[in-house]
Amino acid sequence: MTRTTTRIDDLPIRDELRGKSPYGAPQLDVPVRLNTNENPYPLPEALVERIAERVRDAARQLNRYPDRDAVELRTELARYLTRTAGHEVAMENVWAANGSNEVIQQLLQTFGGPGRTAIGFEPSYSMHGLISRGTGTGWISGPRNEDFTIDVAAAEKAIAEHRPDVVFITSPNNPTGTAVGADTVLALYEAAQAAKPSLVVVDEAYGEFSHHPSLLPLIEGRPNMVLSRTMSKAFGAAGLRLGYLAADPAVVDAVQLVRLPYHLSSVTQATALAALEHTDTLLGYVEQLKTERDRLVNELRAIGYEVTDSDANFVQFGRFDGAAGSHEAWQRILDQGVLVRDNGVPGWLRVTAGTPEENDAFLDAVRELKKEQS
Ligand code: PMP
Repeated sequence: MTRTTTRIDDLPIRDELRGKSPYGAPQLDVPVRLNTNENPYPLPEALVERIAERVRDAARQLNRYPDRDAVELRTELARYLTRTAGHEVAMENVWAANGSNEVIQQLLQTFGGPGRTAIGFEPSYSMHGLISRGTGTGWISGPRNEDFTIDVAAAEKAIAEHRPDVVFITSPNNPTGTAVGADTVLALYEAAQAAKPSLVVVDEAYGEFSHHPSLLPLIEGRPNMVLSRTMSKAFGAAGLRLGYLAADPAVVDAVQLVRLPYHLSSVTQATALAALEHTDTLLGYVEQLKTERDRLVNELRAIGYEVTDSDANFVQFGRFDGAAGSHEAWQRILDQGVLVRDNGVPGWLRVTAGTPEENDAFLDAVRELKKEQS
């Protein structure tokens, strides 16, 4: 078919999508890519074999739809959380989808939507705002302190004023790496219940990398609180697309109202189950990455950069001279073969913890940059 000169805005698309760009970091072909918070370690060969085995079994039944309720997978995810996140949950508390982005989308389809609003405390994970827009949910940008922690009083005030239907709390936060304390989450939960009541979504995509325990125990007795997790980071399985949530069983029942039937393919379920069998090995890589993350923080500070304390598998560093300065630094680092992320936080860049060799290459590049700039 020949391509016409029609552009997106010439099509009868929804008004709120006009003039907008799709989300996505540049996927550039450079030697060291530390820009998308991926896990640098490929899955171990024994796990690759196990995936092949499980997928082969699943393939024999691909003429059938998958288990719509993903019972075996949710049971294993519940066991994983119970074992590692300090709180007992069962299959009924857990729901899974294609990446935590889809979990968030299902939550917004259920609890947000036209005439409703969601709030996040920015800078934070920009997809919360974008998925809100995609589901017709109004987006409110809440404040943060200068040091990127959540200003509890200001956040409570914003919740009381806007009475949002959904509140996002990202801990550890992306792109800053900042963990949120249980006391802050509880204060915002109380504020959100007093104002509406609304659903509080704790996005713990980077939870396994934190110095602090998971916020999972907070869901106990709080039916309007949801914890969202992913296998993209700690499990080193970004390509798998598997995210999940833990909450009161009523929340799990509620998202059934919007989920597409058979949304999670049998191949996805089989692969995720295989990965869960190798949890201990994969969590071993997480320990190595935490050590590397702490090394990046210390060495960046020793070189003379400002660094935000990080509980994630990435580090926010600066300060550069505003948005132009961070963009220029991003380019200079790229010129040396290392891709980091310019998230649009003026004066700051974000680097994902890679292998020790990748991190060395990054540190050499920023040492060079510091020399040039001082
Ligand atoms: N939440 C946060 C805070 C993230 O940074 C990301 C990925 N960058 C996600 C959710 C989505 O991850 P996925 O869809 O791969 O599970």
